[in-house]
Order: sequence, then C-alpha cells, then structure tokens
Amino acid sequence: MTLSRRELLKGSLLTGGAGLVASMASLSVPMPGFAAAPKAGVQTTGAYRFSVGNFEITALLDGYIDAGSDLIPNYDPQEAAQLYRDQYRTPPVDKIRVPINSFVVNTGEKIILIDSGTADNMGPTLGQFTENLKAAGITPESVDAILLTHMHVDHISGITSKEGKAHFPNAELIVHKNDWDFWHDDAYISKASDFLKTNSANAKAMSAPYAKRLTLIDKDGEVLPGIEAVALPGHTPGHTPGHTGFVLRSEGQEVLIWGDLVHFTALQFQHPEWSIAFDIDMQQAEQTRRRMLDWVSADRVAVLGSHLEFPGLGHVAQDKGAYRYYQSSWQYQL
Ligand SMILES: [Zn+2]
Repeated sequence: MTLSRRELLKGSLLTGGAGLVASMASLSVPMPGFAAAPKAGVQTTGAYRFSVGNFEITALLDGYIDAGSDLIPNYDPQEAAQLYRDQYRTPPVDKIRVPINSFVVNTGEKIILIDSGTADNMGPTLGQFTENLKAAGITPESVDAILLTHMHVDHISGITSKEGKAHFPNAELIVHKNDWDFWHDDAYISKASDFLKTNSANAKAMSAPYAKRLTLIDKDGEVLPGIEAVALPGHTPGHTPGHTGFVLRSEGQEVLIWGDLVHFTALQFQHPEWSIAFDIDMQQAEQTRRRMLDWVSADRVAVLGSHLEFPGLGHVAQDKGAYRYYQSSWQYQL
C-alpha cells in the first residue's frame, strides 16, 4: 500500500474518512486502548539465521560485557568520542560494550557449532547461549562437531556443564594443536598471570569430556567439507599462535569466521592498531588484523565475528588507509 500526502491530510486512514478534524478531536478523549500496558523489558531471542551458498548459519548471542577502555593501550578518548559521534552511537564514558557471539553451521551433511559463549563464568549480562540455541530449535544431540576459534573462557564455556558433563554428547571437538598444548602446559601456566591460570583451568575442565573424540589441527586447510582453517596469530599467547579462523565456502560464496580479530566494532576498523590487552602479542595481532582486513576488503569476502555487533555479519571496505565496516542487511530468504 502506498500512502499519498492527500490521504494523510484528509485523515481518511486514521479515522475511516471522517477527516482530520475528527482525528484531532479524538486525541482529547481518554481511550481505553491506552491503559497501562506492561512492557517486556527484555530483548527478544538472540538468534539470527542466514545462508552462505548451501550452508545455513545461525548466529547466537551469549550477551555482552562492558570492557574498560584501559584494555586498549593506544586508546584516545577524543578520537573514540568522534568515531562514536560519526557513527550515531552513544559515546562511551570509560566502558565499551562488547557482544559475544557463537555460530551453528548446517552444511546439509553436518551440524557444526563454532564457539559456545561464557556459561555463568562472566556475570549476569552473559550466559544466554544455551537458551538461544534451544530457542533456535537446535538440539545438542544433533551437533556433529564443535570448532573452537580458541579456548578462551568466552568461547569454550558452553560446551560442558559445571559438573563436567558434555553438553554435546555426539560432537567431536576440533581445536588448533597450539592452543590445546598451550592451555595444557602446566609448567608454563603455573608461573603465568592469574588471567592465564583461570583460562587454563577452565579450558582443561571444559574440554576434558571430549578427550576421546578430539581432533587437533596443526596447519591451515580443510578441516571439514567446505570449512577451511586459517591461522590468526596474535590473539592467544604469542609463542603458540593457536587462534584460528574458519573460511566457509559453498556454491561460490564465502564467509570468514574470524574469532577475536576485532573486539570493538566502532573503533578498530578505523584504528586496526588499537589492539586489546588480551592480544598477547599486540604487534602480531595488528599485523594479522591488517592482513585479513586487506584480504576480505579486496576479495569482498563476508566476515562473521565473535565480537562484532550481533549477529556479527558484514563486509569490510578500504577507507583512506584504514577500513570501514558495513553490517549486512536482514536476509529475508534462506
Ligand atoms: Zn573472545
């Protein structure tokens, strides 16, 4: 239906033809339809489905965390405020809101989970992964494989219960050997920071039930039909570059699932040098970030990020020596 200016002026659509005067008058009469209606006060389901070629992908939101800007050593508050203004966002004061996303890929042959959120390890604004997986109609029993971009607490914690029971009873766990070896290196971890100690204990506990159905990958290349691993060193500990992306290819379309390459959607495309302190080798993380941003912008590859604003799907363009992010539009048909 198109609505002409004349129809609006006549008020015919508002009042059934009685005219604008009547519609104005009706505003002064209390209407029972305007009685207090309780608001939901919570968001709807954090799940979004789209397709890449023959693959059907479901993005699942775990929630968000407010990260301190002090996690970015190169942070410039004035520049950040300007970027926020330019993008019609509320300027951050000293916190930056970061979502945590996971993905389920149905290849038509297999159902593959990529990362799994935080469970109850990171506070009440997170931990919605399991609920959203259920709301999306995906049963844990149907999952054939779990791919982890890395074993940090916000990526691995949804695969096993606190009691040590695997949530995905039929799934093979696939993770990079360097990441696995690092978090299981007790001699190194015993002398490391509390951040690494906590992550190591959690990574070991969460992955333990999968020890008998574990595949460790040690090079780039195909890990499952249509899914290729690509090393993204710099985020997880520098001497063990286990942080891994996955390129999904189907029917001439491709998307790069890039894990933690970018944490701050509003900032790091303009400033790829603003690495997060969790990037243990921040220089290497910046090099990897620029290399991947150059590739996806030149080849127009779609990207899917663990911490890009939900659902985390978009494209990247070159922009005067830096980059610009274009979030994808709603996909009406799969
Ligand atoms: Zn992360």
